Amino acid sequence: MVVYDCIIIGGGIAGLQASIQLGRYRDKVLVIDAEDGRSSLCRCYHNILGWPEGISGATLRRTGRRQAEALGIEFVEETVEKASKQAESFCVATEENVYQSHTLLIATGIKDHLPAFDALIPCLGISVYICPDCDGFEVLDKEVIVIGSGKAGAGMALALTNWSNQIHLINHGQQLIDEEMQSKLNEYGIQTFTEQIAEIEAEGDQFRGVKLLDGSSLEANHAFVAMGGNEVRSQLAEQLGVELYKNKHILVDPRTKMTNVENVFAAGDIVAHSEQVTIAMGDGMQAAIWIHKKIKQQH
Ligand SMILES: Cc1cc2nc3c(=O)[nH]c(=O)nc-3n(C[C@H](O)[C@H](O)[C@H](O)COP(=O)(O)OP(=O)(O)OC[C@H]3O[C@@H](n4cnc5c(N)ncnc54)[C@H](O)[C@@H]3O)c2cc1C
Repeated sequence: MVVYDCIIIGGGIAGLQASIQLGRYRDKVLVIDAEDGRSSLCRCYHNILGWPEGISGATLRRTGRRQAEALGIEFVEETVEKASKQAESFCVATEENVYQSHTLLIATGIKDHLPAFDALIPCLGISVYICPDCDGFEVLDKEVIVIGSGKAGAGMALALTNWSNQIHLINHGQQLIDEEMQSKLNEYGIQTFTEQIAEIEAEGDQFRGVKLLDGSSLEANHAFVAMGGNEVRSQLAEQLGVELYKNKHILVDPRTKMTNVENVFAAGDIVAHSEQVTIAMGDGMQAAIWIHKKIKQQH
């Protein structure tokens, strides 16, 4: 069986950047990717240096993969189900295959908890957003609906007051908003709706508003989703004995991106930090530099 220098689990932004750098070192690398990350969902990133008009996740992924493949990086579209440490290597199993490597990079990201309305998907990054740090500026002085649940929704609505004073909060997930938060929402004039959403109104990638279960409608051209309960995809790290932060994100050495398990590295949203494309790229790059040093030590 081929033993790779490194297997990268997750071919999103962090995994791709790492693979490009490892390819430039001429290391033997396999990227295993399930193709269902946040970078597959976001139609436009607005806060990245060099892209003032924005760039889609699909474009970054497509060009990144092409760049990595040209450097000899191998890709398979599979989902890793098990990862374990052997005497001198790691063993990674998908439903279809088993692979081995000397080092591992976990770049599996997180999965957003989105309400089950298909019409929201084409709007993501264009007129429906999930992160105020990324896209608060997109709703500057505009009317915006927050599709939320309890504290997460209320927190999002309050964060957006930095940019807009026309905010409507729908407690679609029906979790409790405590008195303190409710009085802050009132203070900022944020209208709160307790009725759930029956239907999303959208034309292609343009969000138009919502219909509530009581038959009433709310119109706006922008929305934020904040349901809480995103899935942190650190199960494989757990199998390997990797130390996790209390919110399930992976803890790494800030300089090397190596976890507490020798030769297991992590990069991107799965690491405990601010969940941004530029950080995922930086993480991937830095991890690759130190993975290469480890590979060189082993040969
Ligand atoms: C709607 C939306 C808008 C956003 N807007 C912005 C923005 O404007 N600016 C910004 O900086 N960030 C934004 N983000 C966040 C940004 O997309 C993430 O920070 C970035 O994608 C993180 O990269 P990553 O490589 O860590 O994870 P991802 O891009 O999510 O990639 C992880 C990859 O791992 C794969 N994977 C997971 N588990 C397995 C497994 N077991 N086996 C194999 N493969 C697996 C997935 O399929 C996926 O391809 C946005 C996110 C969303 C959803």
